[in-house]
Amino acid sequence: MGGFDWNAETLLEFKALWDSGIVFSAIARIMGTTKNTVIGKAHREGWQRQPRRWQRAKPTPNLFPDKRGCSFGIGDPGEKGFRFCGERTAPGASFCETHRRICYVKRPVELERITKIALAG
Ligand SMILES: [Zn+2]
Repeated sequence: MGGFDWNAETLLEFKALWDSGIVFSAIARIMGTTKNTVIGKAHREGWQRQPRRWQRAKPTPNLFPDKRGCSFGIGDPGEKGFRFCGERTAPGASFCETHRRICYVKRPVELERITKIALAG
């Protein structure tokens, strides 16, 4: 292992997926690497996560229209700790590059696969 190309972009994507609360196996599948690679990376970054129920990563309505930045909801709107991504977006876009890819490019195929993986795991 260790051949995965960690750079600013992949790390940002990983962090976004991590913050979404999905399981390692699903993150690994999305990023095209192995579960061990993402677990190892999270460990090296010092990220810790409490075991939690699967939550589908989903775009949420922008509750704060005045707010600039990515309106991708991270976490569950009903739970403490929910927040919006807030990253810089392209003009007229609702989401940052990372979340635009998650929301649009990888839909619906990837999300379906993620859900299946998560439910199986
Ligand atoms: Zn974002």
